[in-house]
Amino acid sequence: MNLAFIGLGKMGIGMARNLLRAGHSVAVYNRSADKAAPLVTEGARVAKSPADACREADVIMTMLADDAALEQVVFAADGIAGAMKPGAVHLSHSTISTAMARKLTAEHAQRKQGYLSVPVFGRPEAAEAKKLVVVVAGPANLIDRCRPLFDALGRATYVVGAEPWQANVTKLCGNFMIVAMIEAFGEAYATLRKAGVDPHAYLEIMNTLLGSAVIGNYGKAIADEAFEPAGFALKLGLKDVRLILAAAEECTSPMPLASLVHDHLLSAVAQGQGEMDWSSVTRVIARNAGL
Ligand code: NAP
Repeated sequence: MNLAFIGLGKMGIGMARNLLRAGHSVAVYNRSADKAAPLVTEGARVAKSPADACREADVIMTMLADDAALEQVVFAADGIAGAMKPGAVHLSHSTISTAMARKLTAEHAQRKQGYLSVPVFGRPEAAEAKKLVVVVAGPANLIDRCRPLFDALGRATYVVGAEPWQANVTKLCGNFMIVAMIEAFGEAYATLRKAGVDPHAYLEIMNTLLGSAVIGNYGKAIADEAFEPAGFALKLGLKDVRLILAAAEECTSPMPLASLVHDHLLSAVAQGQGEMDWSSVTRVIARNAGL
């Protein structure tokens, strides 16, 4: 397929590479142009603007930081909305608000373009290794057409609804589970350290009881206090928890645990941890325990 891929950050670079490996023709664009250079030798065409990237594309994929970045890339004068071919489809992989997903659905429909929300689970290493878990929602015909692309990005694809924003609320609730687990590790480790028990010994027990890659990897990083370089920056984690709380508000469904984690993440940013991994929020919990 003729593809455009916009946003070559920690996640996007590996995703674009896997689309090239799967034999697709890919035009790439990144705001900081240097990040696109490594893909040239792998067959990508480097575009001058988002509009230039998507002129020939059947499918335009975006992997950008947040709502504001996506708004800019889609609706600016050199953005994709004005340049997409009629019938072309925009796949948004970023973790964005449900409101932004509804806006994109309406704006693309008005221009006779397709739109699917396709957020992903997995860290940058999983993106590189084609091991993402892909979540998608939107019209079934568009999902069928784009399925080979989901297969090129990940190890499993889950369809969660016919309205694109339903994929975004699913992704947000998934990140909520992960950050709630990080919070639980932070609280348990702080107590254990004060009790003189090695968190690594505790983690072995938790791996036996609850074993999963997510528990094992985060549990070890937090026990080792290995927060840099960030796999997922804490400032983006705070953005996600804000979006979770906004979705909860929309659905009139209180999420008190998300409110608590929000304040811990905010404290972490106030203490200069915005660029560290989001698991470094556990430092706030340790400090609260006098550690
Ligand atoms: P990242 O490394 O910070 O990359 C962000 C990308 O957005 C970069 O390409 C950046 O361009 C671009 N960008 C930011 N503001 C922009 C603007 N105003 N206009 C144009 N481009 C802009 O972030 P990431 O870790 O790849 O995450 C990307 C998305 O995936 C986020 O929504 C995140 O929540 C989600 N996600 C992340 C992970 C993870 O573990 N990292 C996992 C799943 C989902 P520059 O290079 O020019 O700054």
